[in-house]
Amino acid sequence: MIEILFLGTATSHGVPVIDCVIKDYKFCPKNVCKLAKTNAKHNRTRSSILVSYDKKSVLIDCGMDFRTQILRENIKNIDAAIFTHRHSDHISGVPDIRSFCGGFENGLPIYGSQETIDAISQSFSYIFDPNTFVGGGIPKLERNIINQNFNLFGLDFIPIPVVHGDCNGCFGYRFANIAYIPDVKSIPQTSFKKLQNLDLLIVDCLRMERPHSTHFIYADVENLIAKINPKKVLGTHLCHDINYETDEKIIDSRMTFAYDGLRVSL
Ligand SMILES: [Zn+2]
Ligand SMILES: [Zn+2]
Ligand SMILES: [Zn+2]
Repeated sequence: MIEILFLGTATSHGVPVIDCVIKDYKFCPKNVCKLAKTNAKHNRTRSSILVSYDKKSVLIDCGMDFRTQILRENIKNIDAAIFTHRHSDHISGVPDIRSFCGGFENGLPIYGSQETIDAISQSFSYIFDPNTFVGGGIPKLERNIINQNFNLFGLDFIPIPVVHGDCNGCFGYRFANIAYIPDVKSIPQTSFKKLQNLDLLIVDCLRMERPHSTHFIYADVENLIAKINPKKVLGTHLCHDINYETDEKIIDSRMTFAYDGLRVSL
């Protein structure tokens, strides 16, 4: 059995959006940022999941809310970390991963495309060049550059190359009959064969309307559902334009919106 824990489900701003607070919620399209004060399901931290199976836990993405997410969910173990792409909302939490790096001879194994691992190496150069850093608390990481299937603790992870603006080396991942694609604008034809026979598709659904230059909106998700026919769909990487209470009533019956703290077992 595989359990997926949604550590975060927000787009890069998080929800509530700071701008909405500054402007007294006057421009918040569906009042979600204000509703978040009293309904935790509207409160979204930056997108990340923890995949657990056979007593192992694999983190996918590690954004700036990583510490908050770990404390909220009382996570005590991470055995590997996989990254989808190099954007800040997916890698900024790497310094805090240090608490999980004990007990690995070569460091906590991390996986990503060449571009993603390069970005992590450049953004946190002190981690990989400890001579330049005075003081303790450096994560010990074993970098693994991947562009094809790799196996972690008996489960195959399949990188799915996707287009996400000008972000080269952006992957979704498939494991068993589950696919996780948090940031995507379009899917190349060659990636579709990796998305057949899915029991669960977890996919970018930034907002309901108004096309975005680098992200799926609901219409794009709808098109993808029609093409690959997954059994169930969870929208993630949501902005304050998504109000799950009202919008879930008008989307495909196979689909719901993920929320922080949601656990799904398959
Ligand atoms: Zn993102
Ligand atoms: Zn708002
Ligand atoms: Zn992104």
